[in-house]
Amino acid sequence: MIIDIAADSDFSIHNIPFGIFSTADRSARAGVAIGDYVLDLLALSELGVFDFDTSVLGQSTLNDFIRLGKTVTSKVRTDIQSLLQDDSSPLAGKENLFLPRAEVTMHMPVHVGDYTDFYSSIEHATNVGTMFRDPDNALLPNWRHLPVGYHGRASSIIVSGTDIHRPKGQVMPKDAQVPIFRPSARLDFELEMAFVIGQDTSLGESISTDQAEDYIFGMVLFNDWSARDIQKWEYVPLGPFLAKSFASSISPWIVTMDALAPFKVDGPEQSPKVLPYLQYSGQHNYDIALEVDITPDGSSPSTICRSNYKYMYWNMAQQLAHHTIGGCNVKVGDMMASGTISGQSKDSYGSMLELSWAGSQPVPLADGQIRVFIEDGDTVTMRGAAQRGDVRVGFGEVSAKILPAK
Ligand code: CA
Repeated sequence: MIIDIAADSDFSIHNIPFGIFSTADRSARAGVAIGDYVLDLLALSELGVFDFDTSVLGQSTLNDFIRLGKTVTSKVRTDIQSLLQDDSSPLAGKENLFLPRAEVTMHMPVHVGDYTDFYSSIEHATNVGTMFRDPDNALLPNWRHLPVGYHGRASSIIVSGTDIHRPKGQVMPKDAQVPIFRPSARLDFELEMAFVIGQDTSLGESISTDQAEDYIFGMVLFNDWSARDIQKWEYVPLGPFLAKSFASSISPWIVTMDALAPFKVDGPEQSPKVLPYLQYSGQHNYDIALEVDITPDGSSPSTICRSNYKYMYWNMAQQLAHHTIGGCNVKVGDMMASGTISGQSKDSYGSMLELSWAGSQPVPLADGQIRVFIEDGDTVTMRGAAQRGDVRVGFGEVSAKILPAK
């Protein structure tokens, strides 16, 4: 191995995730996370190790690189794995190729043209339905028949590390007759993962569940920030709007479906049986352990949630098949988020709404504070990693601090 990689690194030789980084003297460009380093792909291409048009590696998004297709991008990943493991490879001794990861600036890895958010965790949908509607009828009649989703806002998807001001908006106070305008008092996170589209389709074309993963380049961690008080007043009858559109944070490294393939598992049994276009064969759930920390200003982190992506009721193949069944086209860089990923146990709930049960059960932090929702100065950090034996493939983190309303 050309560089040292800690055994517990998210960015092992098995991973090779792609991102966009810059430094004081290197413009935004493509890189790969490896151990504590970023491998500069533009600089690497100057050694002549790649046989495609490497100008795409000097662009400020990965869209055109991804658009080259998996025959190219999958080979880039396996070529890098080989080069890193060959002590006599052209990378050996080339210190300018490797930059300490802690010293680079990460950027949005792709231009996101369109963003969709699903609602695919049965535990989350059941919790929300229980709190806001009827505990005996928590799931609406459509929920087990189609992956419920909505078209979200792409312009406010931001990379990890970008601070967010508490949103303001209309809320209807309890027992009031008219709404008031104020900063949200119920700011929340949603623990999600998102997949990145890797191939364009044409208008009118549909993607089957069998083909779906060919159209997915990879995945990131996704925090769908949510203002619950604004959401509660505005969402009827068309769903989330300003309560969600102020910001969504993503982790900067796109972990490829190739890297995640060893972590496929069966999904939960779906009952009743779904319509033929949503039926699938093989495994499409992924065993990815997820965690959420809250770090109050000037204090230490508390892990308040431990969940897993494998709990999802509707998988990515079904989500993409459903998304395109009406003929809606998708484009490289489009992002589709899972919906809040909750498990069955109380400590696996993927939002403060559920962890504090709509504010009725404060969540204790390690430093003695309590939280029902997110307060100004809090940093919310999500981590995710798949591990089987010694093989670890992680996402790093998505982290953002909440600043007071402007
Ligand atoms: Ca969501």
